[in-house]
Amino acid sequence: EARKNASTPLAHPCLARVPNQLFVGGQWVDAASGRTFPVLDPRTAKEVFRVAEADKEDVELAVAAARKAFDEGPWPRMSGKQRGKILIKIAELIEANLEEMAQIETLDNGKPLAMSKLADIPLSADHFRYYAGWADKIHGKTIPCDNSFGKFFAYTVHEPIGVVGQIIPWNFPLLMLAWKVAPALAAGNCIVLKPAEQTPLNALRFAALCQEAGLPDGVVNVLPGFGPTAGAAICRHPDVDKLAFTGSTEVGRIVMREASERIVPVSLELGGKSPLIVDKNCDLDKAVELAHFACFFNHGQCCAAGTRLYVHADIYDEFCQKSAERAAKRTVGDPFVEGTEQGPQIDEDQLNKILGYLEIGQREGAKLLCGGKRHGTEGYFVEPTVFADVTEEMKICKEEIFGPVQAILKYHTTEEVIKRANTSEYGLASGIISKDVNFINTVSRALKAGTVWVNTYNVYESGVPFGGYKSSGIGRDKGVYALEAYTQTKAIYQALDDNQC
Ligand code: ADP
Repeated sequence: EARKNASTPLAHPCLARVPNQLFVGGQWVDAASGRTFPVLDPRTAKEVFRVAEADKEDVELAVAAARKAFDEGPWPRMSGKQRGKILIKIAELIEANLEEMAQIETLDNGKPLAMSKLADIPLSADHFRYYAGWADKIHGKTIPCDNSFGKFFAYTVHEPIGVVGQIIPWNFPLLMLAWKVAPALAAGNCIVLKPAEQTPLNALRFAALCQEAGLPDGVVNVLPGFGPTAGAAICRHPDVDKLAFTGSTEVGRIVMREASERIVPVSLELGGKSPLIVDKNCDLDKAVELAHFACFFNHGQCCAAGTRLYVHADIYDEFCQKSAERAAKRTVGDPFVEGTEQGPQIDEDQLNKILGYLEIGQREGAKLLCGGKRHGTEGYFVEPTVFADVTEEMKICKEEIFGPVQAILKYHTTEEVIKRANTSEYGLASGIISKDVNFINTVSRALKAGTVWVNTYNVYESGVPFGGYKSSGIGRDKGVYALEAYTQTKAIYQALDDNQC
């Protein structure tokens, strides 16, 4: 298996089977430029690994390999059943390597090992199994046609789109890969995937598992590299038939602009600033804990994080106090140590961006209840932070911080909170905590967001669609809905009476 210079001492045992080259056309290859880039351990900011750095020339080769696999290879011609078998094999291989892949994820991203083991890796495996089940159920309809021109029938065929360019972020490196790759494969597409430059490791490990599962050469190509170089080259390549992107709204605009040049379909899963509304009719302690989880899960590095916490005036003071106590108790430290709730943020840019918002929040007049600073002096740790008395005009309420920062707002009436919750430019997710079924029904239907979690948060089931309203994106990942993004519908008319031609 492809790890060049395997004699270099390993920074962590989990790296033993991580390839360090590009995966193109079923081969492990160096970058055309010969360049490599470092993978940093976010606990220490020190280099732990190096991988080949893809650029335009490598994108050319990968797209050509994917094109060949699509136009001439077995993948899109196989029966759905056969494709499903390979997807199941991929799911099983992820499960068989769960412990190792969980460690890779934690080393690469900094999330607690317990979370990698409980969420990231098993949910990724589950996603492949889920879409394996769809692979032989992607089919069209028969439509009777009887008009003044004669008798016909028409049928629709749901065909794969072709070569799909997929660009993913670093917050859930393997899971975001699974959300993109599994439905595209089930439908018969071929893929050029660029993982985030901060977290390329499990994408490379995954490529090795695809080989092991018997996926034909060129069906999945993995190109670690940077956005403005490798990412931009994928977006601009004339032979890429569809673009799928998860990341910031800012880069989403660039991807959409590129897609518009060539009129290729694009799906975008972008930023969020999700409201979580706490009714006065609730179990206060449970609500505090759920709101804490909604905001601080994955160090606040979730596009769906419940970062605008609207609390009813009757319970506001007590809620704020208890939220601050809970956040102050959050264990921050080494994600490999059992019991750690929060590891380091992903990189220096994010650290500085978050620290900037902590200053802005105080300057804007929000009340700092706990945290507010960097945690320690090494790596990218941030103190869990709670701001109260936040208003919609403040930057910390409008902009996505992507860090462990909770902003609490006070509200009085249901109509008022619906209006205020919907003021955001984003519309990715939202949440409601209440025991009042009328409140739940009214608010859940009124919120302009792709997901509403009621008395729960951050639940991700493979069969349930996920995506945004407004500037949070276009299209849906997951469920049967994601298949629409990876198929074209062809209509075929056929004459029924003999004298048609
Ligand atoms: P974040 O702010 O969470 O890092 P980004 O939107 O910057 O999110 O990055 C998400 C993904 O988009 C990464 O894989 C990154 O390399 C890629 N990316 C960044 N800039 C561009 C670009 N100009 N064109 C294509 N992809 C890009």
